[in-house]
Amino acid sequence: MILDSKTPSGPLENKWDKHIMDGKLVNPADKRKYDIIVVGTGLAGASAASTLAELGYSVKAFTFHDSPRRAHSIAAQGGINAAKNYQNDGDSVYRLFYDTVKGGDFRSRESNVYRLAQVSANIIDQCVALGVPFAREYGGLLANRSFGGAQVSRTFYARGQTGQQLLLGAYSGLSRQIGLGNVELYANHEMLDLVVIDGHARGIITRNVITGSIDKHSAHAVVLATGGYGNVFYLSTSALNSNVTAAWRAHRKGAAFANPCYTQIHPTCIPVSGDYQSKLTLMSESLRNDGRIWAPKNPGDQRPADQIPEEERDYYLERKYPSFGNLAPRDISSRSAKEVCDEGRGVGETGLGVYLDFKDAIDRLGEDVIRERYGNLFDIYHEITGESAYKQPMRIYPAVHYTMGGLWVDYNLMSTIPGCFVIGEANFSDHGANRLGASALMQGLADGYFVLPYTIPHYLAEVPREPAPPVDHPEFTKAEEDVVNRTKALLENNGKQSVNSFHKRLGKIMWDKCGMARNKSGLEEAIREIPALRQEFEEDVRVLGAGDNLNQSLEMAGRVADFFELGELMCRDALAREESCGGHFREEHQYEDGEARRDDEGFAHVSAWEWKGKDQPQEHHQEKLEYERVKMVTRSYK
Ligand SMILES: Cc1cc2nc3c(=O)[nH]c(=O)nc-3n(C[C@H](O)[C@H](O)[C@H](O)COP(=O)(O)OP(=O)(O)OC[C@H]3O[C@@H](n4cnc5c(N)ncnc54)[C@H](O)[C@@H]3O)c2cc1C
Repeated sequence: MILDSKTPSGPLENKWDKHIMDGKLVNPADKRKYDIIVVGTGLAGASAASTLAELGYSVKAFTFHDSPRRAHSIAAQGGINAAKNYQNDGDSVYRLFYDTVKGGDFRSRESNVYRLAQVSANIIDQCVALGVPFAREYGGLLANRSFGGAQVSRTFYARGQTGQQLLLGAYSGLSRQIGLGNVELYANHEMLDLVVIDGHARGIITRNVITGSIDKHSAHAVVLATGGYGNVFYLSTSALNSNVTAAWRAHRKGAAFANPCYTQIHPTCIPVSGDYQSKLTLMSESLRNDGRIWAPKNPGDQRPADQIPEEERDYYLERKYPSFGNLAPRDISSRSAKEVCDEGRGVGETGLGVYLDFKDAIDRLGEDVIRERYGNLFDIYHEITGESAYKQPMRIYPAVHYTMGGLWVDYNLMSTIPGCFVIGEANFSDHGANRLGASALMQGLADGYFVLPYTIPHYLAEVPREPAPPVDHPEFTKAEEDVVNRTKALLENNGKQSVNSFHKRLGKIMWDKCGMARNKSGLEEAIREIPALRQEFEEDVRVLGAGDNLNQSLEMAGRVADFFELGELMCRDALAREESCGGHFREEHQYEDGEARRDDEGFAHVSAWEWKGKDQPQEHHQEKLEYERVKMVTRSYK
């Protein structure tokens, strides 16, 4: 397998412009002759599908939801970054680029990140044009707030509903194209395999989740915009339906999977409260603009927060990272919370929590201002915990939130399967070992609105202007048979244990051994335990119901089966990376003060894994990371 990043030559600032000029174009009259399948209608998929259709291509858009508006993107709360410098506080394209590379602990591709920063400003204009109601200052200018890992305010937001408002904007663009007949929407369709003909992606196999019908769809190119895989941990802040199946099926057909072990654990989530939970809830990072994080100084101090005097409180982020304070990046803030709790200073019944306190902000600004800024988040907190964050501090603890790993893509966002493009959270592209807050929405929309529409013609221009392959091609028949057999095997297994119970057990292994902190022996144990659990699943899982109607147990079973293989690969990747960087913290590799110890000599590369067959370990490939402009330094937020 060759990992050619196709990074353009020339100075960093000119690479993207040069690439656009060097790229091939498709004649406007020919565009409708090309069919493009877009799987996923979250922010990345909806923006890509609507833009490609607007350009004239024939698009088929797929989602397993009943409406594109239900994509997990709708959950995004805090905001979206862009280098507009509206605050006149020293922001620039270069600074956004630098913050992102540094935030990712120097494990991302420099050229991709620079392009992301370049197009960021266009995204805001595009969304405003679509009617997204971003918060505004009194004078009408769009408002900004701060997010972690940055000392400028560049985050655009719509109260705590940024993802929802952006998705409604993207969906309205998509609906326009559906109305014009340029996008055919397949709601309630789950992609269960990729079809590869003569080495090129040429279609997908889907299951209609309402009728159970298994269908074949062909095209000249396939775009995967299927989101992240945090639910491999069972408990995460992701939507319950988020999963890895589309990406994993592409991986099994030849798409390299990059940096699978890079997981983001978000510091400000509502702590786990019991064994019955199936979901964790994020309290947006935007709260760290005004909230102060602390824990009691003394282990075992169980007094209520308001009875712990100021001098017995440890505002540990402000103490350890004075220049970034409560806005230290997520990986660092999460690890600090874990350290505090490991020392026995955690709060709440489980001891796995720290305080996020708004008292000072309320005293300074008044409750009304805080309500206006974060009211809906305080309401969510109240509904879940029964506590008012206006009266007492929130309790928070880190939880799985985002996956920086994903399918490997080159500068054109094409995977190692020609014709299979991957965008949004599903690819590994821009965040290195740690994503900065408010940068996922930026990346998903950059990919969909401004990158893919420029790079996909370069590929299509080489594809003969003939109709897409017929769906009776032997590769379609084979892929369809595989899907039918897999589905049948699950339904007829007749075991004794539920899908959920297996998912929970897998999640526990992943959290304990491949979570916030990892070590060699734990990872080796996980690599032994996961295949054994997978075998037990194959022999003893019980999937109730039938295949010819709505059957969520069947849907989950297929997804959990793929999570087993992914989980094992994540542990192998974490074991191979003998360093600590970003969200990947190997206990063996730390400085005396507990900070992550990177090894640039040995590990300044992207790990990309090639599928070698069931029960065979994947082959490890590396894309070396070369920084022309940025100097790789030890990250410091002190
Ligand atoms: C609670 C929460 C808050 C967040 N807040 C922010 C924030 O404030 N700012 C920020 O930048 N980021 C935030 N993020 C991250 C951000 O929301 C996501 O990274 C981003 O929305 C992912 O968008 P996407 O389009 O790549 O994928 P998704 O929105 O996950 O969409 C995936 C799509 O793929 C479809 N799909 C998946 N698999 C299949 C299949 N097999 N067949 C058919 N369809 C399939 C789904 O139906 C869906 O339409 C937050 C994340 C969480 C969990």
